[in-house]
Amino acid sequence: MTVDDLKHLVRTVPDFPAPGILFRDVTTLIGHGAGFAASIAHLADRARAAGAEAIAGMEARGFIFGAAVAAHMGLGFVPVRKPGKLPVPTIGIDYALEYGRDRLEIDPGAVSAGQRVVLVDDLIATGGTALAAMELLRSAGASVTHALFVIDLPDLHGAARLRDAGLTVDALMH
Ligand code: IMP
Repeated sequence: MTVDDLKHLVRTVPDFPAPGILFRDVTTLIGHGAGFAASIAHLADRARAAGAEAIAGMEARGFIFGAAVAAHMGLGFVPVRKPGKLPVPTIGIDYALEYGRDRLEIDPGAVSAGQRVVLVDDLIATGGTALAAMELLRSAGASVTHALFVIDLPDLHGAARLRDAGLTVDALMH
């Protein structure tokens, strides 16, 4: 399936999670076997070109795509988690979200020094989540230079923020 075909599998839900917001819902994309497989194959091609040695994904929808990309490539997956979920001492970062504030945590032992870790998430809006994940992984010693998304919302300029921070950004659709 082409990336153009995949675009038709994303559902748009008005007024979620708040009035006036158009939510791009990937439930319909991941529920479509061929569409989900093609999404993973397209993301994996790009992660391979980026020289990925591991894939990191942000909870929760980044786990769906990131873990599948990692398994497709035979690489390990690093979960970037919501607070209080990991059973070991963590490092964390607080950050501003499109709809409020949040915090991400990782197990600092989940990456090795200089390991090339590619970020994967379902969607980039303001870029705050991806920037926080990048900083967190870098503070654990990883080399983070690429971030991949299924969807980029260009009006929110998140990809531009990430590029300003030195990341190469790619998305399957806008
Ligand atoms: P950002 O931090 O503003 O770039 O927001 C991106 C994060 O919020 C990602 O982890 C997304 O899963 C989530 N998000 C924001 N807007 C949407 C949307 O319209 N659909 C699905 N996820 C969204």
